[in-house]
Amino acid sequence: MPDTKKLQHFIGGEWVEPASGEHFESTNPATRAVNYVAARGGAADVARAVETARDTFEDPRWRDLSATRRGHLLRRLGDLIGENAEELARMETQDNGKLLREMRGQLATLPEYWYYYAGLADKIHGGFIPTSDRQVLNYTSREPLGVVGAITPWNSPLTLTTSKLAPALCAGNTVVVKPSEHTSATILRLAELAVEAGFPPGAVNVVTGYGAEAGQALVDHPALAKLSFTGSTATGSRIASSTASRFIGSTLELGGKSPNIVFEDADVANAAMGVVAGIFAAAGQTCIAGSRIFVHRSVHDELLERVAERARTIRIGDPLDDATELGPLAFEDQRDKVAGYVDLGRSEGARVLTGGRSSDGGLGGYFYEPTVLVDVDNSMRVVREEIFGPVAAVMPFDTEEEVVRLANDTEYGLAAGVWTRNLSRAHRMAARLDAGTIWVNTYRAMSPMSPRQGFKSSGVGVEHGTETIKEYTRLKSVWINTSEDPVADPFVMRG
Ligand code: NAD
Repeated sequence: MPDTKKLQHFIGGEWVEPASGEHFESTNPATRAVNYVAARGGAADVARAVETARDTFEDPRWRDLSATRRGHLLRRLGDLIGENAEELARMETQDNGKLLREMRGQLATLPEYWYYYAGLADKIHGGFIPTSDRQVLNYTSREPLGVVGAITPWNSPLTLTTSKLAPALCAGNTVVVKPSEHTSATILRLAELAVEAGFPPGAVNVVTGYGAEAGQALVDHPALAKLSFTGSTATGSRIASSTASRFIGSTLELGGKSPNIVFEDADVANAAMGVVAGIFAAAGQTCIAGSRIFVHRSVHDELLERVAERARTIRIGDPLDDATELGPLAFEDQRDKVAGYVDLGRSEGARVLTGGRSSDGGLGGYFYEPTVLVDVDNSMRVVREEIFGPVAAVMPFDTEEEVVRLANDTEYGLAAGVWTRNLSRAHRMAARLDAGTIWVNTYRAMSPMSPRQGFKSSGVGVEHGTETIKEYTRLKSVWINTSEDPVADPFVMRG
């Protein structure tokens, strides 16, 4: 990058000053130090990026590149991400405060996402349809869409952007990314690596800036063929209205309020670890956070004691330090939002068993203690709304029937955890829980091979796996008359 302290847009393989000439600050949430300033994008920058992506999409050097060659480019980019993993992990930790050791783990598997779609690139095709008229040949082809817009959040920028970019490029599209205003740096670096990998300069473009400015301009751009979004349900709903009114597709990965259910027949020690991992890992800033914890009454006190004890001993501090277990929240408003929710819970009648206070982590940053709320129920806002922080609400239940009803009583349907040693019960719960991902005796498992989809207000469309290719292609049906016979009766349709 030309100047790590003053970032520009990345359009057509070049660093580009924002049309407005304005930049905005991005801070390290652990220390409040300014990390860099990023370009404040607007409609003019977005238009330039979309036009560049459109020109590249139509350029024979990209359009006619063989699918196998496209796969090579994806594989090469995966290699480059692996070679630059430590730099990328550190950049992301300084941007959003996630633990460096977690980021190293994410970066260790990120190349696999690119390799998976590298292998898939030349396996995307249509098929022959044996219609009843043997003189007419009917086949389908699966085509790329054009320019895909990708709008992504700050909690796992590289991973969540890869979930969109890898399949979009695999299928032959070009992309304009608008990363979160809190985490621009690694996405710009990713676009730079894409050019180094051999992608045409206009295949991956990045316009940084605020959601209401650059983000909205991207959603509204008339040349966009598709919008893929990960973020809050409120923003996703606005985007869905706009794209639907123009008949362009959108893939929406949105919020969650996932149940993590511990049955009386579970291994309670393992379940306690799973509950802690589900809500306190990444300081609870994950869409899949297991934030509603239902525990069978017979093991409730034991599990609660284990979880509360672990929560009290979680080491808060510098996310760059390997001994740290909980880093800061990603920015000041996010910390204030979490603190506000815990205060709201108190006013609703919840009891704070442990945590419940802001902290500066000894570094001056935006930390919040791991918090366990009890005396809560499904009617309270702290149990219904996504907090996106290290706040667990723990509730007892008595029967399987009751917990299915409680777990499904939410507007969200992203994920659910079940802890049981009863195999039949595991399958019953997997079938009855209204969520796109179900984990049994584990939590947060993920793979590029496994599709994920949010149900209800958690989203529309599939990410990962082969299924997601449908989100980035369109199907064409081609009919060819192979007969030499004259076309006889113009008023009878063939078929
Ligand atoms: P957000 O909706 O505030 O922002 C997400 C992105 O949208 C950002 O890039 C932002 O600048 C942009 N944006 C905001 N307003 C916009 C507008 N009017 N038009 C276009 N773009 C706009 O969400 P966030 O706070 O960055 O991320 C946290 C949310 O993301 C949580 O709700 C979380 O559950 C969700 N999330 C979901 C998944 C998933 O896979 N389902 C994964 C991670 C995060």
